[in-house]
Amino acid sequence: MLLANIVYSVVFNKCPQCHQGKVLTYPPYQINKLLDTGESCVHCELKYEKEPGFFYGAMYVSYALTSGVFIVAYLLQLLVLDLPETQFALSMVSFILLTFPLVARWSRLLWLNFFVSYDPLKSNISISKQSNSK
Ligand SMILES: [Zn+2]
Repeated sequence: MLLANIVYSVVFNKCPQCHQGKVLTYPPYQINKLLDTGESCVHCELKYEKEPGFFYGAMYVSYALTSGVFIVAYLLQLLVLDLPETQFALSMVSFILLTFPLVARWSRLLWLNFFVSYDPLKSNISISKQSNSK
């Protein structure tokens, strides 16, 4: 279930450790705050940025994701689509520009998921804290 946990965390912008708190504070359509990341999880207190510059590593993930899309699109172009070269190039550039906000966010979340795994016990911390305080 490791892959399912990572996919859930990335797609729903959830803390990789508890799946409760949000990692990125704003939605993807707020371009100026696209990658604003909270300091730590409000639920389990996991510190997101492990060290200064931690999220620079997400650039490698972004490169891999974008390259993967290019490879699949190029294979589709060769085997199925057979579009004129300029039309194919323009459609790829448009696709990359339109999906940039999602790719940038997913890269950051994937990078964080490489270093932190889901812990079901951490997901129940806040519930037990709340029940103890009542
Ligand atoms: Zn958390």
